[in-house]
Amino acid sequence: MTVDYIIIGQGVCGTWLSYYLLHENKTFVVIDKEDLQTASNVSSGLINPVTGRRVVTTWMADKLMPFVWQEYNAASSFFNTQSINQKNVLVFPSAPDLQNAFQSRIKQQNSYIQSPGITKEELHSYFYFPFDVFEIAPCYVVSMHEFLSSCRKFLLQQNLLINEMFDENEISFQDDFVQYKNIQAKKIIYANGIQSSFSMYWMKLPFINNKGQALIAEIDGLNSNYTYKFGHLTLIALQTNFWWIGSSNELNFQTTEPTEDFKQTTTTSLQSILKMPFAIKEHWASLRPATVERRPFVGTHPVYKQIAILNGMGSKGCSLAPWFAKELVKHLEYKNPIDPLADVQRFSKMLSDNI
Ligand SMILES: Cc1cc2nc3c(=O)[nH]c(=O)nc-3n(C[C@H](O)[C@H](O)[C@H](O)COP(=O)(O)OP(=O)(O)OC[C@H]3O[C@@H](n4cnc5c(N)ncnc54)[C@H](O)[C@@H]3O)c2cc1C
Repeated sequence: MTVDYIIIGQGVCGTWLSYYLLHENKTFVVIDKEDLQTASNVSSGLINPVTGRRVVTTWMADKLMPFVWQEYNAASSFFNTQSINQKNVLVFPSAPDLQNAFQSRIKQQNSYIQSPGITKEELHSYFYFPFDVFEIAPCYVVSMHEFLSSCRKFLLQQNLLINEMFDENEISFQDDFVQYKNIQAKKIIYANGIQSSFSMYWMKLPFINNKGQALIAEIDGLNSNYTYKFGHLTLIALQTNFWWIGSSNELNFQTTEPTEDFKQTTTTSLQSILKMPFAIKEHWASLRPATVERRPFVGTHPVYKQIAILNGMGSKGCSLAPWFAKELVKHLEYKNPIDPLADVQRFSKMLSDNI
């Protein structure tokens, strides 16, 4: 088989690469071993333009917010699904300094922060909270499982996906192409999440694997038009009465599996804020492919020109992946530049040493 590209991985990065390559009429095959506990599958799919205790606008938010809304809607209709909804975040500050930070952003006319469009009475019927509540708008929630599985179904129907592990030892480089088993390609694109940090070609990149856990809880009657945020605890409606509750950000962990400790702490926190009964149904864990500088790795290897990477999305994969997948495809096809803050060429020396 001869193709333009081999994509390793069908998480959110591989899915968006597939979408943009289809639109460029390129030939490709995706190699992805199905796994429901990948970062993309356990993600809550939240796209939020404001972050942190200092209440700052996230990197590229002004460009990304309109872009993701348009692109997820377009891709969802292409893959015959519905995957993105606007669900603004209601923030419940836990201390006066956070409340003050929000109030001063409103005074500074930060266009993403406003007073809630839901009554305090309604909120008091759901939650215990001591301070003012703020609304971040717009925020979106992508149903990641829906989005990934509709793309996977499409790729399988078109014979564009091989459901197996990619074995790097099977790569052999030729002058202007690369051979992988019986497949000849112009390039291989690594979109395999944390597994790239073990690749012999990419392991020198400053990856940090950041573990995140979440509980899935059944809660009857909580208004699912909004997302609710209490410190590290975020409640996101997955479907009627089912809520994603998370998450942790763990840099030191003994196991990649869900832990009893997280379950107990999160359940206790939920009991302290929620006035309604709930039942824990599932417990998920995965590793985010994060980076030391909190910027992605996008572009071609400085030595092995036949391989490229789309990775390092950290906790922002749902918004960064479509943008940088498009940028990478335009770079590979038309030599368009990649944002220097994301271009993997910034690690050119590191990746070239001792080869
Ligand atoms: C608990 C949690 C909550 C999160 N919440 C959010 C959120 O609300 N918003 C947000 O924007 N981001 C969120 N993230 C981060 C986001 O999920 C990641 O940034 C993103 O999913 C990374 O996507 P990826 O495609 O790079 O990697 P992955 O999702 O890990 O996908 C890689 C794919 O490659 C496959 N693969 C790997 N190695 C091989 C191999 N050798 N052969 C074949 N297949 C292979 C894997 O099976 C997988 O399908 C969250 C992450 C976690 C863990």
